[in-house]
Amino acid sequence: MRKQDRGASRRRAIGDLVAVAGCSVVVFALALHFQLPHRLAQHSAGDNGATSDAAVFFLATLAIGLIVFTSRRWRESVRESEQADVHRALYDPLTGLPNRILLNQRLTEALARVRQDDGRVAVLFLDLDRFKSINDNYGHAAGDHLLTSVADRLRAAVRGEDLLARLGGDEFVVICHEVTYTGEAETIAERVLLAMAHPFFVGDDELAISSSIGIALSDSTTRGRRDSAETLLHDADAAMYRAKSQGPGRFAIFDRTMKVDRVNRDKVEERLRDAFDNDEFTLHYQPIISVADERIVGVEALLRWEDPHRGTIPPLEFVPELEETGLIVAVGEWALEQACRQVKAWGKAYPRIGPLRVSVNVSPRQLVQARFGDVVTRVLQRTGARADQLCLEITEAALMGDVVSAWAELRKVKALGVNLAIDDFGTGYSSVSYVRNFALDVLKVDQSFVRALSSCVEDAAIVKAVVHMAHALSLQTVAEGVETPEQLQELREIGCDLAQGYLFSRPQAAEMIAALFAQEGGRRSRPARAAKVS
Ligand code: C2E
Ligand code: MG
Ligand code: MG
Repeated sequence: MRKQDRGASRRRAIGDLVAVAGCSVVVFALALHFQLPHRLAQHSAGDNGATSDAAVFFLATLAIGLIVFTSRRWRESVRESEQADVHRALYDPLTGLPNRILLNQRLTEALARVRQDDGRVAVLFLDLDRFKSINDNYGHAAGDHLLTSVADRLRAAVRGEDLLARLGGDEFVVICHEVTYTGEAETIAERVLLAMAHPFFVGDDELAISSSIGIALSDSTTRGRRDSAETLLHDADAAMYRAKSQGPGRFAIFDRTMKVDRVNRDKVEERLRDAFDNDEFTLHYQPIISVADERIVGVEALLRWEDPHRGTIPPLEFVPELEETGLIVAVGEWALEQACRQVKAWGKAYPRIGPLRVSVNVSPRQLVQARFGDVVTRVLQRTGARADQLCLEITEAALMGDVVSAWAELRKVKALGVNLAIDDFGTGYSSVSYVRNFALDVLKVDQSFVRALSSCVEDAAIVKAVVHMAHALSLQTVAEGVETPEQLQELREIGCDLAQGYLFSRPQAAEMIAALFAQEGGRRSRPARAAKVS
């Protein structure tokens, strides 16, 4: 029972008690006034019993009063517990907002009404961006506190006649009644996004929490005849996904193509899940070479999907889907473990190669969704690989997004002694601030700059500046996508430390890389370029 209901119930009970006591006194006073006990006593046993009969009469009146009071209270408590059951079944206990069941009822009623009138119903499906990372980093109590603050903001942002509900987790829905044109729903969505734009407080931290909104309107041509509450909610959900894919803090209006998106997304998720269960993912490795003497100093682990029907599928075709569906968290951990086992095994089998480092790509979702620091600790323990044998590659985008939680996890990883690399440097904001503020070890110059090294003076100047900046900050530099001896020569002149590219080797299965190590190990006495294997 809610606090205000409990207060009202207590007040009613006191009222009842006062009323019953008052009535009993009045009845007794009237009885005395009309000498009822005396008359009764005369009627039954004579005068001398009048005083004790008055007392008996008083007690009887009181007893009847108490019986009336108790029975009223009992009826009241039954009614209250029935009401509490109904409330529990229809309202969300955390925010006090209508839940999914009541939302469905109200939406069905609203759709029935618009079949009679000419209006339309709009459904706004709202989902907080990256809410899970708040729960993971600040704990569930902080997450709950944030959800109640969000509910309060939303209550204030929607119109009085609209219904706001919480579907569960970080999903909220607004039903807007009597919407006559799409622009009205858009205005409400804009208002909601604006209300969410102010920062929220989680503990002592001020956080920017954005949300994505999908909008679906009931069918105007058939006066909503085709729509059911379920389809409208599905459509709004699909639109919400479209909004999310366009970046945080956006809204999108449902159109038919989104239905296809949704079906495709479900299918892709199922296929990727099956692929993971059937061990169809594998890692290829690409050597990383010292520019000075062309020795192999490390490898980058790159994910491949060996689809039994389509052959080898490159990561750019499925990593985005793994990220969107959240499967990257499990697949990423698997890749990390596999790579650590492999580097440990190579170190043992080819001791003459010298210290080897394996680089593993980490997606932004891994950083914010799982307790990533704990994952890395566990993997190192399980595989026996040393922390300094591992380098985690993070793209600029990952650090630009949910910075607070991503950096918190990276700090834990850094404390273990794991190396951190910034991948594809130059393709994002190229912000020097995080390179300076955060103890990174390696900077990887994106291949788009390396490609034009020998032909474009500007790109050569950029690479030179980046390498100098990295060295000034004590970072090692890796040039990606080195394909020609001319590019290698340029890099040598610029002073870049390491290189990786088809000039040395394409990414290969572990056995092929082992063959390279065997060759290289035999030649370790004299510097030599890694044999080109394609
Ligand atoms: P990346 O981390 O920048 O990896 C380098 C990419 O450049 C690889 O593409 C590699 O095959 C390619 N490459 C290397 N040398 C050359 C060259 O000389 N010329 C050209 N044109 N390309 C070269 P790949 O394997 O297709 O991977 C693409 C991206 O997919 C990676 O870019 C990385 O961002 C992502 N990725 C790969 N494996 C994983 C993984 O396990 N987890 C995550 N989250 N992302 C991964
Ligand atoms: Mg990489
Ligand atoms: Mg890269």
